[in-house]
Amino acid sequence: MKKPLTRDLRRCLGATSVLSELGDLRVYDCDGLTIEKRLPDAVVFPATTEQVAEVVRICSRHDAPIVARGAGTSLAGGCLPIGGGVVVMLTRMKRIIEVNVADRMALVEAGVLNLQLARALTGTGLHFAPDPSSQIACTIGGNVATNAGGPHTLKYGVTLNHVLGVEAVLGDGTVMQLGPLGDRAALDLTGVLVGSEGTLAIVTRVWIRLTPNPQDYRTLRVTFDSLDDASNAISDVIASGIVPAAMELMDQGILAAVDEAFQFGFPADAEAVVVIELDGPSVGLDEQRDRITEICNRHQAREILQASDAQQRALLWKCRKMAVGAVGRLSPSYCIQDGVVPRTKLPHIIRRITEISAKYSIRIVNVAHAGDGNIHPILLFDERDADQVQRALAAGKELLEDCIRCGGSVTAEHGIGIEKISLMESLFAPYDLKMMEKVRDAFNPGGGLGLGKVLPSPHAPTLLHAAVSIGDV
Ligand SMILES: Cc1cc2nc3c(=O)[nH]c(=O)nc-3n(C[C@H](O)[C@H](O)[C@H](O)COP(=O)(O)OP(=O)(O)OC[C@H]3O[C@@H](n4cnc5c(N)ncnc54)[C@H](O)[C@@H]3O)c2cc1C
Repeated sequence: MKKPLTRDLRRCLGATSVLSELGDLRVYDCDGLTIEKRLPDAVVFPATTEQVAEVVRICSRHDAPIVARGAGTSLAGGCLPIGGGVVVMLTRMKRIIEVNVADRMALVEAGVLNLQLARALTGTGLHFAPDPSSQIACTIGGNVATNAGGPHTLKYGVTLNHVLGVEAVLGDGTVMQLGPLGDRAALDLTGVLVGSEGTLAIVTRVWIRLTPNPQDYRTLRVTFDSLDDASNAISDVIASGIVPAAMELMDQGILAAVDEAFQFGFPADAEAVVVIELDGPSVGLDEQRDRITEICNRHQAREILQASDAQQRALLWKCRKMAVGAVGRLSPSYCIQDGVVPRTKLPHIIRRITEISAKYSIRIVNVAHAGDGNIHPILLFDERDADQVQRALAAGKELLEDCIRCGGSVTAEHGIGIEKISLMESLFAPYDLKMMEKVRDAFNPGGGLGLGKVLPSPHAPTLLHAAVSIGDV
């Protein structure tokens, strides 16, 4: 490993805050996208913003690329240490510095877990609205970097809508404070940093907008015989003018896995279950629930269950919360895709997923934040088999190209990382990409932060290599 670099890092942070042994580095050679692995030269654990800034300056002197990492739950390869270099772990920066109930704000360090913040807010009547399904593990810094969403994005929006400001270290080691309220008068640089996936700056602190807890809920779990009926019902609920807090779809494949793990007793022939939640002031919720029930019945709902208390609400949600965890029962490896389409195109894209699955002989099961058109087809394969990996990648690419053709996008919440760079030129005009490069160069001169991520560049790894063997459609 690179001795002068690690020596300087140890001088700055102390020996226990720098890893450089091969066995230790292997832990950080990938994230939630496990098909591509690269070894960093070192992994560091700064505890303060000043230490992060000093690490960035040291790396710049040694010409070493840097990748910021929270919990490493990225599904797009955002934490892959391309070109070696240094992984900057934010996990020691996990202080909740202030919770200001009166002004509905909190100030937290980047390594605070989403769930840690949720627990700290218990009893305040407030919460941080973005609730990714990885909530138990992911960090607020990671949420900011990826502009994370979750089941309740449908009503409450993505992370960007809940960030008032950030403190961040730029590519030259400068510490910049944006917000919490001051920069509203000028260009929205906080908005530029949210979702930039570590390619512009390392976020060290976040000022969070807190949302009042809803007064009441109505939670339904609706079973449909046909996936088409389920997606048409979802589209019609939104068309009726109701905005539920969440509408989460699970298909037969995922239901079978969840059922095997947790014995919910779903009928084996049901093609879909949708969890629908309304929240807000109690007045009017029953009316909305009745209208949703009527729409679901119009689309041949087989069973509609309603929670009558908090315990039952948790039970109805359990199948969705446990869904991805249960996928491990279905295959050795999986890739969770993240496309988005206009809601009216949901039935079309769900049919296309079935066709693409057959074409590439890759089994696909589905969960979706369906209310906002955000599909998460889960492609099942065995990463020890190179042909299967390539077929899964090709199937994912074709599916996302279809999302673009529908007027959607290749990501709603997981980000571009390394996984989707090859689609950037289909999504954006050359001029748009040039402007993004200029913004990156302004924040991150030299390009050392997040090397090879998000924007097309010679550093970006090519994941899809060979011609793939395609089955009969
Ligand atoms: C089972 C599962 C379910 C998921 N469900 C959802 C979901 O519902 N919604 C959703 O949005 N995502 C979901 N994800 C994806 C992922 O959890 C989110 O993108 C999350 O926000 C990443 O947080 P993290 O702390 O793990 O970040 P990491 O994985 O560590 O990093 C993600 C990206 O952000 C950058 N980064 C991390 N911290 C910082 C920082 N402090 N400053 C600058 N850049 C930084 C990294 O370089 C990388 O590019 C899911 C993932 C899994 C495994």
